[in-house]
Amino acid sequence: MTSASEQLFAEAQRYIPGGVDSPVRAFKGVGGIPPFLKRGLGAHVFDADGREYIDYVCSWGPLILGHAHPGVVAALTAAVDDGTSFGAPTELETTLAKMVVDAVPSIEMVRFVNSGTEACMSALRVARAFANRDKIIKFEGCYHGHADGLLVKAGSGAATFGQPDSAGVPAAYAGLTLVAHYNSLDSVQALLQANDGEVAALIVEPIAGNMGVVPPAPGFLQGLRSLCDEAGVVLIFDEVISGFRAAYGGAQALYGVTPDLTCLGKIIGGGLPVGAYGGRREIMEQVAPLGPAYQAGTLSGNPLAMTAGIETLRQLSRPGVYDLLETLGCSLQDGLDRIIRERAVPATTSRVGSLITLFFNPGPIVDYPTAAASDSDRFAAYFHGMLKRGCYLAPSQFEALFLSLSHTEQDIQQTLEAAAQAIA
Ligand code: PMP
Repeated sequence: MTSASEQLFAEAQRYIPGGVDSPVRAFKGVGGIPPFLKRGLGAHVFDADGREYIDYVCSWGPLILGHAHPGVVAALTAAVDDGTSFGAPTELETTLAKMVVDAVPSIEMVRFVNSGTEACMSALRVARAFANRDKIIKFEGCYHGHADGLLVKAGSGAATFGQPDSAGVPAAYAGLTLVAHYNSLDSVQALLQANDGEVAALIVEPIAGNMGVVPPAPGFLQGLRSLCDEAGVVLIFDEVISGFRAAYGGAQALYGVTPDLTCLGKIIGGGLPVGAYGGRREIMEQVAPLGPAYQAGTLSGNPLAMTAGIETLRQLSRPGVYDLLETLGCSLQDGLDRIIRERAVPATTSRVGSLITLFFNPGPIVDYPTAAASDSDRFAAYFHGMLKRGCYLAPSQFEALFLSLSHTEQDIQQTLEAAAQAIA
């Protein structure tokens, strides 16, 4: 008998390319049929066949409070009665903007958009306008959304499908994107020397999340700051994942390195579509209508997205929240490390706070080539073993697992029991 998810997936594929609205959801990296989800509550999700899973995707990061958080649901329910969109200024935008400016060290002014893709695309445009140069530097295995110039050695879904660069991106445009090696300051220095006076911006995930979790080596972010200062390059931290997750002020607060611009998304929309970019006032003053760099959006600053974001940040600003995420992350990582040791599996874990990846590769994992050397077939078998045992992981070796404040020690212990079996 076919399951409800199988039927729904077959139907979806008739109308939607691959049956999904974002490629990794189709399970191509691990094989099989994706469960169609119907409901989420706290750290758990329920599929169309009534199966329950402990969710480690959490909408790929936004749901740091868990699904259907009562505070967020109540705020949204009240807000929806006042209308869903105006395309005119609202006080909610200023409220969330103030919260972001107060939290994130680099941000003096911020512009809200609708996705992380838009945030990164726009930040680069503004950086180019400010620097009056065309070239940019990104790192192999870092993903900054699907804008043309950023789909170059882009990690994440692209890495999962062995398709580092997308078709349909004009070579002339992609040629303006220079690619460095993560955690290698030498590779950045070489590009800056070879393209002296031509590089507008360098964009980096301060904690790489899209080749699996790869933390910055000690001194790497500080080194980028110095190199960018020397070369007059705008330093952009893409904190779409790490913002309000690595710490309330993001990775830049955790590591004490302040970029010129920061891209945000995910958590600041509390599960509704959102993105944002912000930074030094003199750079943000390039943005229309103040300056010549055009960027706009019909639904930008949407009142529902702002409401969900405000309530999420309010919850995250309470004392002890990040300690709890650290404790949960530690517990899961320690348990996985123990299983790896006891079963002598050639694998390693990598973690920053509530972001963890189990690489099927003895490591150390420091950049894209070392991450890519992982055994994806073994990951696929582990993934399906976990899914069968009620643990919903990201369906690719090259992704992070996301913990939320709704996960409990009991969830973690149940997950470790599943992992001990699935890894065998
Ligand atoms: N930057 C990073 C670091 C991301 O992880 C992502 C998405 N996972 C993006 C940008 C793009 O965000 P979105 O999917 O909202 O366009």
